[in-house]
Amino acid sequence: MTTRTEISKLGEFGLIEHLTQNMPLKNPQTLKGVGDDAAVLDYKDKQVLVTTDLLLEGVHFDLTYVPLKHLGYKSAVVNFSDIYAMNGQPKQITVSIGLSKRFSVEDMDELYSGIRLACDVYGVDLVGGDTSASMTGLTISITCIGEGEKGKVVYRSGAKETDLVCVSGDLGAAYMGLQLLEREKNVFNGEKDFTPDFSGKEYLLERQLKPEARKDIIASLAEAGILPTAMMDVSDGLSSELLHIAKDSHVGCRIYEERIPIDYQTAVMAEQFNMNLVTAALNGGEDYELLFTVALADYDKAAELKGVKIIGHITKPELGNYLVGRDGGEVELKAQGWNSLS
Ligand code: ADP
Ligand code: MG
Repeated sequence: MTTRTEISKLGEFGLIEHLTQNMPLKNPQTLKGVGDDAAVLDYKDKQVLVTTDLLLEGVHFDLTYVPLKHLGYKSAVVNFSDIYAMNGQPKQITVSIGLSKRFSVEDMDELYSGIRLACDVYGVDLVGGDTSASMTGLTISITCIGEGEKGKVVYRSGAKETDLVCVSGDLGAAYMGLQLLEREKNVFNGEKDFTPDFSGKEYLLERQLKPEARKDIIASLAEAGILPTAMMDVSDGLSSELLHIAKDSHVGCRIYEERIPIDYQTAVMAEQFNMNLVTAALNGGEDYELLFTVALADYDKAAELKGVKIIGHITKPELGNYLVGRDGGEVELKAQGWNSLS
């Protein structure tokens, strides 16, 4: 039997101490972490990047199928992804949580074990946060601080005509993973003895429940000597992100359906769900891949990057933003980005 320790047994300060103990600091930029009125960071002559995310139970996550450890891991990783998307390196996070009486100390241990793991994998220090009781389930807000080299921070606004459009990994799998979890949940709600069958679909679940940020792609770009002209991470879906780059860079784009990277399991699942595969890949969201543009002069280097596909190019703004189909037909890209407000 698992034990359940009420949060009230430790109290707020006791809980914070319990959750943040034995976390040696990893980065020289972190002078002071948890334990004073503020963390102290030293970035010398680097540029400092800051990003934050707010996650609400029932809106952004569903604890009926998301384990708390995975939730902790994902909450941290999606913030790291935003820092990589600026061509930076994440260094510190603060974690703020609101929790109702439903949650025990053991639950928070699970959540923090995921956060800790993410911090270990990506070399990030947990330097603070805030803790409060809540009336409405679990709320998590994570702020990530990172560093960028002067002159090497990459914005959404730098894409130029003739640049190549590149994307890492494959798209649509996390969305299919979510569809799968939602379907099993609905079946599960109706039955007593129910074990969902996820065999052969592990990749989809992993992409939804345990995404990774593309630290490796940032490293390969640097190694190849490529500085992208514009970059962002794919959290709301490729279409929506491309339109952001196009708008902020005052350009248009053409991408090619046949070049969009899609995993086999994603394709199988789309067929089972009777969904249009390309639509899912373009609008699915939560892929946490990197979408970036590079100068045409970097074509050879970009073509050699492992795990990266060139999917199109940047045009004059008057030419709009289009997906070129396998038959040569063109469909305008629309931002039907998947997000919790829709
Ligand atoms: P304050 O009264 O200044 O808000 P707290 O008692 O809330 O201080 O926090 C004490 C220390 O613990 C601070 O360093 C704070 O950043 C850190 N902290 C508080 N809550 C969390 C949390 N959920 N996760 C990590 N660190 C936390
Ligand atoms: Mg506080």
